[in-house]
Amino acid sequence: MKKVFIFLGPPGSGKGTQTSRLADKLSIPHIDTGSLLRKNIQDETELGKIAKSYIDKGNLVPLNVVSSVIKERLMEDDCQNGYILDGFPRSIEQAQALEEILSQVGKFTLKDDAMAIYFDIDNELLIQRLINRRSCPKCGTIYNLISNPPKIMDYCDICDTKLTIRKDDNEETARARFKTYENETAPLYDYFKQLGILEELKADGSISEIWENLKEIVFDE
Ligand code: AMP
Repeated sequence: MKKVFIFLGPPGSGKGTQTSRLADKLSIPHIDTGSLLRKNIQDETELGKIAKSYIDKGNLVPLNVVSSVIKERLMEDDCQNGYILDGFPRSIEQAQALEEILSQVGKFTLKDDAMAIYFDIDNELLIQRLINRRSCPKCGTIYNLISNPPKIMDYCDICDTKLTIRKDDNEETARARFKTYENETAPLYDYFKQLGILEELKADGSISEIWENLKEIVFDE
């Protein structure tokens, strides 16, 4: 069984939801660079100050910032048995940086231990999904007003906190994030294919259908 899972796909393709499920099932951490960066912004760290202007525009945060955030995270104890990377790498240069970080951390390699899972989904659907996304600022649960609405409009089912809209989920920034994805991240499909670690996941169904597809890929390899 592979130890490092890399979730690759356009913004809003459902990577976050499926990553959480797989992380629970395998008891390994879900490492999401977007959340790590937003936490740095909230804590007003030096890295957060640099990251903020890029995130607000839907651009990629510079390599040195993301690399140091991810390296620090991968060195934590809970990463010993594997982890799921969601939103990293997001460009060829980040994939190369990941190989370098893995060799420094010294535990896994991309070729032998990693599986990259590509979320295959029609891009046109995704902008609508993104602008209808809501999340709970307290427990982190993600909702979608169309495909996965909360029971009571705008309030978290789990902790009853008022849901919030991510600042970069407005239409203009969402379109910029798609462009960034097409230019920077989509080339990783070929990169991982050449490495022989790419798997394709049909990701345009319901959350439970996608989960079934994902389990087949991860557990039947
Ligand atoms: P996400 O939560 O994954 O949609 O990421 C939100 C924003 O954080 C992105 O639009 C980027 O500005 C930034 N970000 C997240 N992950 C990365 C990464 N691996 N490299 C550069 N920027 C990132």
